[in-house]
Amino acid sequence: MSDETDQLNAPDRPPMTELERIRHSCAHVLATAILRLWPEAQFAAGPPVENGFYYDLELPHRISPEDFAKIEAEMKKEIKANHKFERRVVSRGEALALAEAGELAALGPRPAASKFKLDIVDNIPTGEEISLYRNGDFLDLCAGPHVMRTGNIGAFRLTNVASAYYKGDERNPQLQRIYGTAFKNKTQLDEYFAMLEEAKKRDHRKLGKELELFTFDDDVGPGLPLWLPRGAAIIEELEKLAKETEFAAGYKRVRTTNLARESLYLKSGHLPYYAESMFPPMELVAEGAESKRPMNRPEVFREMLEKPLTRQALDEILAKAEEMRADLPIDRYYLKAMNCPHHHKLYAALPRSYRELPLRLAEYGFCHRYEQSGELFGLMRVRSLQMNDAHIYCTPEQFESEFNAVNQMYLRYFKLFGIEKYVMRFSTHDPAKLGQKFVDEPELWKQTEEMVRGVLQRSGINYVEVPNEAAFYGPKIDVQVWSAIGREFTIATNQVDFAQPRRFDLTYKDRDNTAKTPLCIHRAPLGTHERFIGFLIEHYAGNFPLWLAPEQVRVVPIGDEAVLLEYARSIQDELRSHQVRTELDASSDHIKAKISAAEEMKVHTMLVIGNRDMEANAVSVRVHGQGNLGAKPRTEAIADIVAAIRERRS
Ligand SMILES: [Zn+2]
Ligand SMILES: [Zn+2]
Repeated sequence: MSDETDQLNAPDRPPMTELERIRHSCAHVLATAILRLWPEAQFAAGPPVENGFYYDLELPHRISPEDFAKIEAEMKKEIKANHKFERRVVSRGEALALAEAGELAALGPRPAASKFKLDIVDNIPTGEEISLYRNGDFLDLCAGPHVMRTGNIGAFRLTNVASAYYKGDERNPQLQRIYGTAFKNKTQLDEYFAMLEEAKKRDHRKLGKELELFTFDDDVGPGLPLWLPRGAAIIEELEKLAKETEFAAGYKRVRTTNLARESLYLKSGHLPYYAESMFPPMELVAEGAESKRPMNRPEVFREMLEKPLTRQALDEILAKAEEMRADLPIDRYYLKAMNCPHHHKLYAALPRSYRELPLRLAEYGFCHRYEQSGELFGLMRVRSLQMNDAHIYCTPEQFESEFNAVNQMYLRYFKLFGIEKYVMRFSTHDPAKLGQKFVDEPELWKQTEEMVRGVLQRSGINYVEVPNEAAFYGPKIDVQVWSAIGREFTIATNQVDFAQPRRFDLTYKDRDNTAKTPLCIHRAPLGTHERFIGFLIEHYAGNFPLWLAPEQVRVVPIGDEAVLLEYARSIQDELRSHQVRTELDASSDHIKAKISAAEEMKVHTMLVIGNRDMEANAVSVRVHGQGNLGAKPRTEAIADIVAAIRERRS
C-alpha cells in the first residue's frame, strides 16, 4: 500500500484480512479514477482503515461529494476491465527515478515529480525491499498485498472527504482525504449502510438526550458527563448487578480515593509513561509546611477579596499565592486515572498469607483521564469514568481457575444482556522486544501466555490471538462485542500482570514460609458505566428490559377524578414499596396523549386504570413494544412486575 507506515513497519504489520485487501485494492482503483479526471493529483498514503479505506491526495480542485458520482463511474470502468495487480520489486535508485519522473501513483510520466512518493521512498530503511504494483495504467509504490484483479472488488462506495496533514503533522501540507468502503458483494455493502442508518437512529447521544439519561455542561467541562435521574437509575442497576455477582464469586469490596500523590504513580509506572493521559498535577505545599501556606493568612488577600470576584481577580489572588509560596516545598497530587495502584496499596496494607489467596478486591472506581478534546465522543470517550474494576491477587497455581472464573462471568453477562456475538482478542508479546515494549521476563511471559491460551482453548471461548500487542506488563485480552444491529464495541480489557505486584513489593507468605510475589489479574467485565451504557442504549435502542428501565412502570388513570387518582396513587405507593421505579401521570390529558407520552419516553410498563378496573381492583397492562396485554388483578400484576425485575428477565 502507498502508506509510509506500511513501508516502514512492514514486518510489524499484522497480515491484511481478505476484506482489508479488497478495501486497500479499492484505494488503488480510486487513485486511478482520480488521475483520469485530474492527472496532476499527487498521492500520499492510502491504507485500509476500520470499515473502509482512504487515499490522501493533493489537488488544486477541492473534491466534494458532488464529484463522487463521476469518480465512482471511472472506478467502475477500472473494475470492469478486471486488471491484474502486478507486483515488481525495484532498487531504490529505480524507485527514486520513477518518482522523479512523476510516474509513481500516476498513469505514466508527468511534468512534476511524485513528491510524496519521493519522500516515502527516501524514508524506507536501507535493506528493506521496495515494491511497486500496477493495475492497468496505474503504477504505485506499495508493499501490498492486494486482491488478484480489480474485478475482485465486489462492491464499493465513496463515503466522505476530509482534510488531513501529510504524515499527520500540521507543519506538512494539508491534503484531501477521500474515504470509501468496499465489500465482497452488493448485499454486504447494502447491509452495512442499512446498519449505519439504524445506528443513527440509535445514536446514544441522541437517545441519551431524548430519554433524559445524561447531559454535558460547559461550566462542568467537556467530556465530563452528568447523569440525570433516569441515567443514574441505570447506573444503580448495573452496580447492583455487579455487586451481587461479585459477592457470590467471593470478591471483597473496597473504596479508594480519587487522587493520590505523585509517588504512587511513579511506583506504578503510570508516571512518566502515562502522564499525557492524566490530568496535570495539583501542586500543594508539602506536609509540615502548611502553616506557612499563604491561603492560611487571609490578611494578605483581604484587599483583593474585597473586589468583585472575576476571573481576573482570581488570577491575581492565585499569582500572589504562587509568589508567596515560591520557596515552600511542594507536593504533587494527581487525579486517579487507574484504580490498580490504590488496590495494590490495600493488598500491601496487611501481611498476606497463601491462605488468604486468591484475594479479589472490587470497586466501582471513579477515574479521570485527560483525553484530547478532539478525541472526546459522547459517552464513548470521556474524561471521567466509573469502572467495574477488580484486581485478583493469586498464586500461579490458582491462576487458571481464577482466570476461567473471570471469563465465565463475562459469558453470564453476555447472556443476560442478549449479546450474541463477541470475541476476545488475546494479545501476546514479541520476544524480540523484551526490555523495550515488554517487561523483560521471558519465563513469566511464556508461562502466563500459555496459561491464558490453555484456559481460552479449554473453555471454548471465541478468541483470536494477536501477537505483539500485549500490555507492557503482561498479556492482555480485549473484549469486543457486537450490538443488536451488528456494530462493534470494545467494552472491556482483562490483563494478566506479573510486573506491578513486583514494583509494589507485594508478597504473601507461602506454605514453606518464604515470601512470594502474587500474580494480579485486572478485570472489568462491565467496562465503564459511560461506555457500557453508551453501548446498551444502542443495543436496546433505548428500550431497556424491565429491570434496567429508568422508569419501570407508569400508572396512567383514564381521567383525573379524585377517587381514581387515589386508587392510582395507592398502586404507585405499593410498587415503590417494592423498590419499583414508578411514576403516576396525574395530568388531565386525554388517555391517548398520556399513552403516547409514556411511549415516547420508552416507559417499560403502563398500568392503565379506568373506573371499571378500579371497581374490580384490577389494572390494564400495556408493555412498550407489545401493546395492550389486557386486564389483570392488581395483586397479580404487581407480583409479576416484582418477579420479572428480581429475575432480571429480558
Ligand atoms: Zn497497495
Ligand atoms: Zn488494574
